[in-house]
Amino acid sequence: MKRKKPNYKLRRNVAKIIIVIIILLPIIIINKTKILHAPIYLQNMKYSKLISSFFSANYTNDETKDILEKLKKEKIIDKVNTNYISALNDKGYNHNTINFVITNFSKTDMTKMLNKKYDKDFEEYITLDFFKYSKYNRYVSYQKDHPSLSLDDVVVRVELNLDKDPYEDATEEKNPNSLDALVNKHRHISKDYKPTDLVNMEDGYANNLYGVKEIRKETYEQFKKMVDAAKKDDIVFYAESAYRDYEYQDQLYEEYVNEFGQEKADTFAARAGYSEHQLGTTLDLANVWTIEEGDPEYEWIEKNGYKYGFIFRYKKSKEDITGFEAEGWHIRYVGVEAATIIHKKNITFDEYWLKYISNKKSSN
Ligand SMILES: [Zn+2]
Repeated sequence: MKRKKPNYKLRRNVAKIIIVIIILLPIIIINKTKILHAPIYLQNMKYSKLISSFFSANYTNDETKDILEKLKKEKIIDKVNTNYISALNDKGYNHNTINFVITNFSKTDMTKMLNKKYDKDFEEYITLDFFKYSKYNRYVSYQKDHPSLSLDDVVVRVELNLDKDPYEDATEEKNPNSLDALVNKHRHISKDYKPTDLVNMEDGYANNLYGVKEIRKETYEQFKKMVDAAKKDDIVFYAESAYRDYEYQDQLYEEYVNEFGQEKADTFAARAGYSEHQLGTTLDLANVWTIEEGDPEYEWIEKNGYKYGFIFRYKKSKEDITGFEAEGWHIRYVGVEAATIIHKKNITFDEYWLKYISNKKSSN
Protein backbone atom coordinates (compact mmCIF):
# COMPACT_ATOMS: atom_id res chain seq x y z
CA MET A 1 0.00 0.00 0.00
CA LYS A 2 1.29 3.37 -0.91
CA ARG A 3 1.72 5.74 2.03
CA LYS A 4 0.17 9.13 1.54
CA LYS A 5 2.72 11.91 1.25
CA PRO A 6 2.45 14.23 4.29
CA ASN A 7 1.04 17.66 3.54
CA TYR A 8 4.15 19.77 4.18
CA LYS A 9 2.54 22.93 2.91
CA LEU A 10 -0.23 22.73 5.48
CA ARG A 11 2.25 21.98 8.26
CA ARG A 12 4.40 24.93 7.29
CA ASN A 13 1.42 27.28 7.34
CA VAL A 14 0.24 26.03 10.72
CA ALA A 15 3.76 26.55 12.08
CA LYS A 16 3.83 30.09 10.72
CA ILE A 17 0.53 30.96 12.36
CA ILE A 18 1.73 29.59 15.70
CA ILE A 19 4.92 31.65 15.50
CA VAL A 20 2.97 34.82 14.70
CA ILE A 21 0.65 34.22 17.67
CA ILE A 22 3.60 33.60 19.99
CA ILE A 23 5.13 36.92 18.93
CA LEU A 24 1.97 39.01 18.88
CA LEU A 25 0.23 37.76 21.99
CA PRO A 26 2.59 39.27 24.55
CA ILE A 27 2.58 42.58 22.65
CA ILE A 28 -1.19 42.67 22.72
CA ILE A 29 -1.30 41.75 26.41
CA ILE A 30 1.39 44.29 27.35
CA ASN A 31 -0.35 47.03 25.39
CA LYS A 32 -3.70 46.31 26.98
CA THR A 33 -2.11 46.39 30.44
CA LYS A 34 -0.20 49.53 29.59
CA ILE A 35 -3.41 51.34 28.64
CA LEU A 36 -5.61 49.93 31.40
CA HIS A 37 -3.11 50.64 34.12
CA ALA A 38 -1.88 53.97 32.82
CA PRO A 39 -4.02 56.13 35.11
CA ILE A 40 -2.95 54.13 38.20
CA TYR A 41 0.65 54.29 37.12
CA LEU A 42 0.46 58.01 36.46
CA GLN A 43 -1.49 59.19 39.48
CA ASN A 44 1.45 59.15 41.87
CA MET A 45 3.51 61.47 39.75
CA LYS A 46 3.92 65.20 39.77
CA TYR A 47 1.85 66.85 37.07
CA SER A 48 4.72 67.84 34.73
CA LYS A 49 6.34 64.44 35.09
CA LEU A 50 3.00 62.78 34.55
CA ILE A 51 2.48 64.62 31.27
CA SER A 52 5.93 63.75 29.96
CA SER A 53 5.71 60.06 30.91
CA PHE A 54 2.29 60.01 29.40
CA PHE A 55 3.61 61.28 26.09
CA SER A 56 6.78 59.26 26.08
CA ALA A 57 4.61 56.12 26.19
CA ASN A 58 3.60 56.96 22.61
CA TYR A 59 -0.06 56.06 22.69
CA THR A 60 -2.09 56.21 19.53
CA ASN A 61 -4.64 58.99 19.18
CA ASP A 62 -7.49 56.74 20.28
CA GLU A 63 -5.56 55.46 23.26
CA THR A 64 -4.74 59.07 24.17
CA LYS A 65 -8.44 59.90 24.22
CA ASP A 66 -9.24 56.87 26.37
CA ILE A 67 -6.56 57.59 28.91
CA LEU A 68 -7.37 61.28 29.10
CA GLU A 69 -10.98 60.40 29.84
CA LYS A 70 -9.91 58.12 32.66
CA LEU A 71 -7.42 60.61 34.09
CA LYS A 72 -10.08 63.30 34.01
CA LYS A 73 -12.69 61.12 35.70
CA GLU A 74 -10.30 60.22 38.47
CA LYS A 75 -9.44 63.93 38.79
CA ILE A 76 -5.77 63.16 38.23
CA ILE A 77 -5.33 65.83 35.63
CA ASP A 78 -6.82 69.25 35.29
CA LYS A 79 -9.86 69.45 33.06
CA VAL A 80 -8.67 72.58 31.28
CA ASN A 81 -5.39 71.03 30.20
CA THR A 82 -7.13 67.84 29.24
CA ASN A 83 -9.31 69.84 26.90
CA TYR A 84 -6.27 71.40 25.28
CA ILE A 85 -4.58 68.03 24.96
CA SER A 86 -7.68 66.52 23.34
CA ALA A 87 -8.15 69.48 21.03
CA LEU A 88 -4.50 69.42 19.90
CA ASN A 89 -4.78 65.68 19.51
CA ASP A 90 -7.88 66.11 17.34
CA LYS A 91 -6.09 68.69 15.18
CA GLY A 92 -3.56 66.00 14.35
CA TYR A 93 -0.58 67.13 16.41
CA ASN A 94 1.75 64.39 17.55
CA HIS A 95 2.54 63.70 21.18
CA ASN A 96 5.89 65.43 21.11
CA THR A 97 4.25 68.64 19.88
CA ILE A 98 1.37 68.41 22.36
CA ASN A 99 3.82 67.85 25.18
CA PHE A 100 5.82 70.88 24.07
CA VAL A 101 2.74 73.07 23.79
CA ILE A 102 1.26 71.97 27.12
CA THR A 103 4.55 72.50 28.92
CA ASN A 104 5.62 75.78 27.28
CA PHE A 105 2.58 77.71 26.12
CA SER A 106 0.31 80.03 28.04
CA LYS A 107 -3.41 79.32 27.76
CA THR A 108 -3.75 82.33 25.44
CA ASP A 109 -1.05 80.93 23.13
CA MET A 110 -2.66 77.48 23.16
CA THR A 111 -6.02 78.97 22.24
CA LYS A 112 -4.37 80.96 19.44
CA MET A 113 -2.75 77.80 18.15
CA LEU A 114 -6.04 75.92 18.23
CA ASN A 115 -7.71 78.67 16.21
CA LYS A 116 -5.16 78.22 13.46
CA LYS A 117 -4.85 75.47 10.87
CA TYR A 118 -2.69 72.44 11.68
CA ASP A 119 0.90 73.68 11.28
CA LYS A 120 3.06 70.89 9.92
CA ASP A 121 6.27 72.95 10.02
CA PHE A 122 5.76 73.70 13.72
CA GLU A 123 6.04 69.99 14.49
CA GLU A 124 9.39 69.86 12.75
CA TYR A 125 10.67 73.19 14.10
CA ILE A 126 10.31 72.22 17.75
CA THR A 127 12.51 69.15 17.24
CA LEU A 128 15.42 71.22 15.90
CA ASP A 129 18.53 72.32 17.78
CA PHE A 130 18.46 76.03 18.64
CA PHE A 131 14.68 76.22 18.25
CA LYS A 132 13.24 78.98 20.42
CA TYR A 133 9.54 79.59 20.42
CA SER A 134 10.12 83.31 21.00
CA LYS A 135 11.71 83.44 17.53
CA TYR A 136 8.97 81.49 15.77
CA ASN A 137 7.61 84.45 13.80
CA ARG A 138 11.11 85.26 12.60
CA TYR A 139 11.54 81.68 11.34
CA VAL A 140 8.26 81.81 9.47
CA SER A 141 9.04 85.07 7.72
CA TYR A 142 12.65 84.10 6.92
CA GLN A 143 11.42 80.82 5.51
CA LYS A 144 8.91 82.67 3.34
CA ASP A 145 11.76 84.74 1.87
CA HIS A 146 14.03 81.69 1.44
CA PRO A 147 11.70 78.83 0.45
CA SER A 148 14.53 76.56 -0.74
CA LEU A 149 16.14 76.35 2.71
CA SER A 150 15.51 73.44 5.06
CA LEU A 151 13.83 74.36 8.35
CA ASP A 152 17.06 73.45 10.13
CA ASP A 153 18.95 76.02 8.03
CA VAL A 154 16.24 78.58 8.76
CA VAL A 155 16.64 78.14 12.53
CA VAL A 156 20.44 78.31 12.30
CA ARG A 157 20.35 81.48 10.20
CA VAL A 158 17.86 83.24 12.42
CA GLU A 159 20.02 82.28 15.40
CA LEU A 160 22.91 83.99 13.57
CA ASN A 161 20.61 87.04 13.12
CA LEU A 162 20.83 86.79 9.33
CA ASP A 163 17.21 87.89 9.10
CA LYS A 164 18.25 91.25 10.51
CA ASP A 165 20.00 94.00 8.61
CA PRO A 166 23.80 94.00 8.90
CA TYR A 167 24.99 95.98 11.93
CA GLU A 168 21.45 96.05 13.36
CA ASP A 169 21.31 94.93 17.03
CA ALA A 170 24.92 93.75 16.82
CA THR A 171 26.38 92.11 19.91
CA GLU A 172 29.92 92.39 21.20
CA GLU A 173 32.37 89.47 21.14
CA LYS A 174 33.65 89.67 24.71
CA ASN A 175 36.46 87.20 24.20
CA PRO A 176 38.38 88.43 21.13
CA ASN A 177 41.55 86.80 22.40
CA SER A 178 40.06 83.33 21.89
CA LEU A 179 40.72 81.49 18.62
CA ASP A 180 36.95 80.88 18.55
CA ALA A 181 36.07 84.59 18.54
CA LEU A 182 33.24 85.31 16.12
CA VAL A 183 33.35 88.58 14.23
CA ASN A 184 30.85 89.25 11.48
CA LYS A 185 28.26 91.82 10.43
CA HIS A 186 26.25 91.08 13.58
CA ARG A 187 29.10 90.79 16.06
CA HIS A 188 31.91 93.20 16.69
CA ILE A 189 34.92 93.61 18.93
CA SER A 190 35.87 96.52 21.11
CA LYS A 191 37.66 99.49 19.60
CA ASP A 192 40.37 99.02 22.23
CA TYR A 193 41.12 95.36 21.58
CA LYS A 194 44.68 94.69 20.50
CA PRO A 195 46.27 91.22 20.76
CA THR A 196 49.19 91.13 23.20
CA ASP A 197 51.24 88.49 21.38
CA LEU A 198 51.74 90.12 17.99
CA VAL A 199 55.02 89.31 16.23
CA ASN A 200 56.64 90.75 13.13
CA MET A 201 56.44 88.68 9.96
CA GLU A 202 59.64 88.05 8.03
CA ASP A 203 60.07 88.88 4.35
CA GLY A 204 59.08 85.89 2.26
CA TYR A 205 56.16 85.08 4.56
CA ALA A 206 54.83 88.60 4.15
CA ASN A 207 55.21 91.43 1.71
CA ASN A 208 56.82 93.96 4.04
CA LEU A 209 57.45 96.56 1.35
CA TYR A 210 55.08 99.11 2.89
CA GLY A 211 55.77 98.39 6.56
CA VAL A 212 56.37 95.19 8.52
CA LYS A 213 53.27 93.04 8.94
CA GLU A 214 52.21 91.80 12.38
CA ILE A 215 50.31 88.68 13.38
CA ARG A 216 49.66 86.68 16.57
CA LYS A 217 52.45 84.30 17.52
CA GLU A 218 50.71 80.92 17.18
CA THR A 219 49.06 81.99 13.92
CA TYR A 220 52.48 82.94 12.57
CA GLU A 221 54.12 79.64 13.59
CA GLN A 222 51.37 77.67 11.87
CA PHE A 223 51.37 79.96 8.83
CA LYS A 224 55.11 79.43 8.33
CA LYS A 225 54.61 75.65 8.47
CA MET A 226 51.84 75.91 5.88
CA VAL A 227 53.86 78.15 3.53
CA ASP A 228 56.87 75.80 3.77
CA ALA A 229 54.71 72.74 3.05
CA ALA A 230 53.11 74.46 0.05
CA LYS A 231 56.55 75.35 -1.35
CA LYS A 232 57.40 71.65 -1.48
CA ASP A 233 54.41 71.27 -3.83
CA ASP A 234 55.65 74.30 -5.88
CA ILE A 235 52.88 76.50 -4.52
CA VAL A 236 53.88 80.00 -3.39
CA PHE A 237 51.92 82.59 -1.41
CA TYR A 238 52.60 85.21 1.24
CA ALA A 239 50.69 87.69 3.38
CA GLU A 240 49.75 90.93 1.73
CA SER A 241 47.82 92.12 4.80
CA ALA A 242 47.68 90.79 8.38
CA TYR A 243 46.77 92.45 11.71
CA ARG A 244 44.95 95.76 11.27
CA ASP A 245 44.03 97.94 14.22
CA TYR A 246 40.68 99.66 14.62
CA GLU A 247 41.86 103.05 13.38
CA TYR A 248 43.47 101.62 10.25
CA GLN A 249 40.34 99.57 9.42
CA ASP A 250 38.22 102.68 9.94
CA GLN A 251 40.39 104.64 7.55
CA LEU A 252 40.28 101.83 4.94
CA TYR A 253 36.50 101.52 5.15
CA GLU A 254 36.03 105.28 4.82
CA GLU A 255 38.23 105.33 1.73
CA TYR A 256 36.08 102.60 0.14
CA VAL A 257 32.88 104.45 1.06
CA ASN A 258 34.20 107.62 -0.56
CA GLU A 259 35.16 105.76 -3.71
CA PHE A 260 32.21 103.33 -4.11
CA GLY A 261 29.45 104.57 -1.81
CA GLN A 262 28.45 102.87 1.43
CA GLU A 263 26.14 100.22 -0.02
CA LYS A 264 28.80 98.84 -2.37
CA ALA A 265 31.61 99.23 0.20
CA ASP A 266 29.61 97.13 2.70
CA THR A 267 29.57 94.15 0.32
CA PHE A 268 33.35 93.74 0.40
CA ALA A 269 34.80 95.81 3.25
CA ALA A 270 34.18 95.40 6.95
CA ARG A 271 33.40 98.38 9.14
CA ALA A 272 35.88 99.11 11.92
CA GLY A 273 35.25 96.79 14.86
CA TYR A 274 33.63 94.27 12.50
CA SER A 275 36.84 93.20 10.77
CA GLU A 276 38.52 89.91 11.58
CA HIS A 277 41.85 91.55 10.82
CA GLN A 278 41.68 93.20 14.25
CA LEU A 279 41.85 89.71 15.81
CA GLY A 280 45.40 89.22 14.57
CA THR A 281 44.62 85.71 13.32
CA THR A 282 43.65 86.72 9.80
CA LEU A 283 45.74 87.12 6.65
CA ASP A 284 45.11 88.27 3.09
CA LEU A 285 47.23 86.27 0.65
CA ALA A 286 48.89 87.03 -2.65
CA ASN A 287 51.35 85.58 -5.11
CA VAL A 288 52.16 88.74 -7.05
CA TRP A 289 48.40 88.98 -7.65
CA THR A 290 45.77 88.59 -4.97
CA ILE A 291 44.71 84.92 -4.59
CA GLU A 292 41.19 84.24 -5.89
CA GLU A 293 38.90 81.21 -5.62
CA GLY A 294 39.96 78.64 -8.20
CA ASP A 295 43.64 79.72 -8.32
CA PRO A 296 46.15 76.89 -7.74
CA GLU A 297 47.18 78.53 -4.43
CA TYR A 298 43.53 78.61 -3.35
CA GLU A 299 43.01 74.97 -4.30
CA TRP A 300 46.11 73.93 -2.36
CA ILE A 301 44.96 75.73 0.80
CA GLU A 302 41.41 74.46 0.38
CA LYS A 303 42.82 70.93 0.37
CA ASN A 304 45.56 71.29 3.01
CA GLY A 305 45.03 74.48 5.03
CA TYR A 306 42.97 72.82 7.77
CA LYS A 307 45.93 70.60 8.70
CA TYR A 308 47.64 73.79 9.87
CA GLY A 309 44.46 75.30 11.38
CA PHE A 310 43.52 77.68 8.54
CA ILE A 311 40.18 78.16 6.81
CA PHE A 312 38.79 80.38 4.09
CA ARG A 313 36.32 82.66 5.75
CA TYR A 314 34.39 84.03 2.75
CA LYS A 315 33.55 81.51 0.04
CA LYS A 316 31.47 82.01 -3.07
CA SER A 317 29.08 79.20 -2.04
CA LYS A 318 28.54 80.73 1.42
CA GLU A 319 27.95 84.39 0.59
CA ASP A 320 24.39 84.26 1.91
CA ILE A 321 25.68 83.23 5.33
CA THR A 322 28.84 85.31 5.64
CA GLY A 323 27.28 88.41 4.07
CA PHE A 324 30.51 89.08 2.18
CA GLU A 325 31.36 88.60 -1.47
CA ALA A 326 33.82 85.74 -1.92
CA GLU A 327 37.38 86.54 -0.79
CA GLY A 328 39.71 83.81 -1.98
CA TRP A 329 42.62 85.64 -0.37
CA HIS A 330 41.28 85.97 3.18
CA ILE A 331 42.25 83.15 5.54
CA ARG A 332 41.70 82.85 9.28
CA TYR A 333 43.57 80.77 11.83
CA VAL A 334 41.15 78.89 14.11
CA GLY A 335 43.34 76.00 15.30
CA VAL A 336 43.65 72.53 13.80
CA GLU A 337 40.71 70.98 15.63
CA ALA A 338 38.17 73.62 14.59
CA ALA A 339 39.56 73.90 11.05
CA THR A 340 39.24 70.13 10.61
CA ILE A 341 35.58 70.13 11.61
CA ILE A 342 34.83 73.12 9.36
CA HIS A 343 36.67 71.46 6.45
CA LYS A 344 35.05 68.03 6.87
CA LYS A 345 31.53 69.40 7.33
CA ASN A 346 31.93 72.12 4.70
CA ILE A 347 30.38 74.75 6.97
CA THR A 348 31.19 78.41 7.59
CA PHE A 349 32.99 79.54 10.71
CA ASP A 350 29.72 81.24 11.76
CA GLU A 351 27.87 77.92 11.73
CA TYR A 352 30.76 76.20 13.47
CA TRP A 353 30.70 78.86 16.20
CA LEU A 354 26.95 78.46 16.70
CA LYS A 355 26.98 74.66 16.77
CA TYR A 356 30.20 73.96 18.64
CA ILE A 357 31.08 77.06 20.64
CA SER A 358 27.98 79.01 21.65
CA ASN A 359 26.13 75.78 22.35
CA LYS A 360 28.90 74.52 24.64
CA LYS A 361 28.87 77.81 26.55
CA SER A 362 25.13 77.88 27.09
CA SER A 363 24.96 74.26 28.28
CA ASN A 364 27.70 74.86 30.86
ZN1 LIG B 1 40.97 90.10 4.66
